[in-house]
This record gives sequence, C-alpha cells and structure tokens, in this order.
Amino acid sequence: MTKTALNISMNKPDILEVIQQHVELKQKGVRYWGLCLFHSEKTPSFMVDGQRQTFVCFGCGASGDVITFIQELHGVDFRRALMLLGISGQPYRPNPELQKQKELIRDYRRRLRAYEDKLCEYLRTGNECKLQIRTIDDVEAMAQFYHEEAYIEHLLDCLQFGTEEERFEIYMQGGLFERATV
Ligand SMILES: [Zn+2]
Repeated sequence: MTKTALNISMNKPDILEVIQQHVELKQKGVRYWGLCLFHSEKTPSFMVDGQRQTFVCFGCGASGDVITFIQELHGVDFRRALMLLGISGQPYRPNPELQKQKELIRDYRRRLRAYEDKLCEYLRTGNECKLQIRTIDDVEAMAQFYHEEAYIEHLLDCLQFGTEEERFEIYMQGGLFERATV
C-alpha cells in the first residue's frame, strides 16, 4: 500500500454514517439494508457491511467502498469524491516546524540529563575527596567544593524532582552549555 493509499484509508469516514445520509438503512445482523439509489427498486437489495466498510447492490451490481459510493452518487471522479468526503489524499508530510520543535525539546532533555550526570559526578568526586581530608591544606583545596556543595544538591533536587519550570530555569542559567556539551 502506498503512503497516499494508506493515508486515504485511514481518513475514510465511516461508510455507514455517509450512506445513512442518503439511504434509509435497516440493520439485519451485522449488515444494513436499504433501497438502492443506483437503480429503481421496491424491496431492499442494497447492502452495507459496516465491518468491511463496503456496500453492494444485489439488484444492479453497484459495489465498492465509501469513496466509490460518493463517486457514483454524484457522478464525480475519485479526486472530487475525496474532496466531498473531506479526505485530502495528500501523502503524509510531517510539519517541518513541529519536527524542529520536537528536535529542540529532545536536545533540551538530552542537555539537562547530561548536566544532571555531571553534577552527580561532581558531588560524588567531592564526597570521595572529603573522606581523604587529612590536613588543613586538604580542607583549603576543597573550599570550592564546600562552597558549591549545597547549591549543587539544590540543583540536582530541582532537576530530579522539580517542576518543568524549575528545570527550564536551570537550563537557561549561564554555564550550562559549557558544562554539558554533549
Ligand atoms: Zn442497485
């Protein structure tokens, strides 16, 4: 099945709904019967199968799907029938703007994850260093870490359990791109 054909079949309106606007149908079992529009008759020989989405007339032999029905009813070609049914018939083309947005969001999430990983790694290394502290010089060397520790824990907390707004704020803060170049 081509993409166009697939798109048409997926967008086809329900045959029962369409035909019932033109023919009075009576249900018998899983099928629906009515008087044929394509030939003159007094007893119904026009049958619609809702499951298969087809119709057939046992009187005149007319048959097909909802598009055929509209074509024969209005005497129009396939394209015009698609228009009447509100089916574009155009192959599916993803909206380029939407695609771009999706990519940006994916990129955003990827960068946030990378940033989170780096913060975790920084905390882990810092805590390991803390265990090795023996001298006052060691403490001094750790000054930067001590200074940042609480803030990094706060950032991680926001990244992991915060709202989308909080995450976005962190994303917008300076330094993120340098820290999380992925
Ligand atoms: Zn007929």
